[in-house]
Amino acid sequence: MKPYKNKINRIRSFALALVFIGFIVMYAGIFFKDHPAVMLIFMLLGVLAILGSTGVYAWIGMVSMRAVPVICPNCGKQTKVLGRVDMCMHCNEPLTMDRSLEGKEFDEDFNKNSNA
Ligand SMILES: [Zn+2]
Repeated sequence: MKPYKNKINRIRSFALALVFIGFIVMYAGIFFKDHPAVMLIFMLLGVLAILGSTGVYAWIGMVSMRAVPVICPNCGKQTKVLGRVDMCMHCNEPLTMDRSLEGKEFDEDFNKNSNA
């Protein structure tokens, strides 16, 4: 079974990873303190990564507004479904917005032809 994840959670972990990468890159710059130009490049890259993550967080905000809040039938918690099929944020239960897909095996490809 492929490791499916809720889309919003996936974007969120990407944004978090960017913050970490930013800090690691800036930290790496310290090792080049004898070469101020190199250090400056590392610092700039780090700042860019952190700014990028801020952009991704803003994007999550926009995406969350389009997502449909549903109560997961499996764990009973509220989650958000993005696209035609998505996973529950809490228990990774596959959820679908499309009744015709109900009961079918979960496939992320359903999202690709979403002209409903
Ligand atoms: Zn659930």
